[in-house]
Amino acid sequence: ETVINRIAAGEVVERPASAVKELVENAIDAGARRVDIAISDGGKGLIRVTDDGCGIPAADLPLALARHATSKIDGSDLLDIRSFGFRGEALASLGAVGRLTVTSRARGAGEAAQVSVTGGVMGAVTPAALTRGTVVELRDLFYATPARLKFMRTDRAEGQAIGDVVKRLALAEPSVGFTLRDVTGDGEGRVSFRADPETGDLFHALRGRVGRVLGSDFVENAIPLDADREGLRLTGLAALPTYSRGSAVAQYLFVNGRPVHDRLLIGALRAAYMDVLSRDRHPAAVLFIDCDPQLVDVNVHPAKAEVRFRERGTARGLIVSGLRHALAEAGH
Ligand code: ADP
Ligand code: MG
Repeated sequence: ETVINRIAAGEVVERPASAVKELVENAIDAGARRVDIAISDGGKGLIRVTDDGCGIPAADLPLALARHATSKIDGSDLLDIRSFGFRGEALASLGAVGRLTVTSRARGAGEAAQVSVTGGVMGAVTPAALTRGTVVELRDLFYATPARLKFMRTDRAEGQAIGDVVKRLALAEPSVGFTLRDVTGDGEGRVSFRADPETGDLFHALRGRVGRVLGSDFVENAIPLDADREGLRLTGLAALPTYSRGSAVAQYLFVNGRPVHDRLLIGALRAAYMDVLSRDRHPAAVLFIDCDPQLVDVNVHPAKAEVRFRERGTARGLIVSGLRHALAEAGH
C-alpha cells in the first residue's frame, strides 16, 4: 500500500473555486501574511494568487509542479498532518487543466524564477522579476476539456463560489490579510472582499474577522462558545435565536483549522437550536472544533472537505451540549 494510494484524493480541480482553495491554502502553508486573489470571468479566464510567503527556490520549482511532490509528507504518519496541503498534486493538476505559471522568489534568494506548464508539459525555468513570495497564475481553466467547461455555471455563480471559499479560509486565518478582486475586462478591477490582518489575542482577532465576513451585526448578536468533551474542544460564535439573517445560510465549520462541510456537524448545530428556532430558519454560526489529529480523519475526501471523527457521538454531543449551554446562559 503506497502513500499515493492511501491518500487517493480523487479529482482536485472540479471548478474554479476548488483551484482557488488549493492555491490560497498553499499561500497560507507558506506562511503568507497577505494573500491577494484576482479572478476574471468567474475564475475561468484567470485566477491569480499572490502571496508574501516563503517562496520556492528556483531549483525546486519543477519539483513543486510535479505530481505527488509535496514537501510536507514522508508517509510515516498521515494522521498527524496539520497543514492544509499534503497530497502534493494541486499544482500538477492545475497544470493539466489550464495554462499555469508560477513565479516565486525564495526568502534570501537574489532573484525570482518562473516556470509555466501548458497541457501538462512543463517549460524551462527562467529568471523573473518579483520582490518576494509567490505568484501563481492560472489562465483558461479547462480550455483543453470543453466537456468540463460545459458543466461550469455562470461567471456570477462561479465567482460567488470563489468568494465563499475565500471567506471560509479568511475565517480560519484571522491573522492573514485577504483581498479578492474581479479583474474581468480592463483596469484595476473591483474588490469584492477585503480583510486586513487581525491583531490582538485569538478571541479578539476572531471577533474582528467574523465581523468582517459575516457583518458586525452578527458579532453583536452572537454568543461566544467554549466547551470541551473527551479531548475535543469547541470554540467560536453562534447567533442568538432572535438574530435573523434572512434566507442566506451562514454556517462555517472548522476542524483543526480546516474548513469542513460535514453533515454530522451541521446536523448537531441544527439539533442544538431545535427548541429555540423555528424549523424554516438556519442558525448562523462559526464553529471551531480542535482536537488531537489522531481523533479525526480529514483525509476521507480532501477536495470535498469531509471529516470522520473516531467518536462521532462525542463530536455531536459536544456541539449540541456546548451550544445549548451557551444559549441557556444567554437566556434562551
Ligand atoms: P501540497 O500543498 O499538497 O504540498 P501542491 O501541489 O499544492 O502540494 O504544492 C506542491 C509544493 O509546492 C508544496 O509542497 C510547496 O513546497 C510548494 N508550494 C506551492 N505553492 C506555494 C506557495 N504559494 N509558496 C511556497 N511554496 C509553495
Ligand atoms: Mg497544496
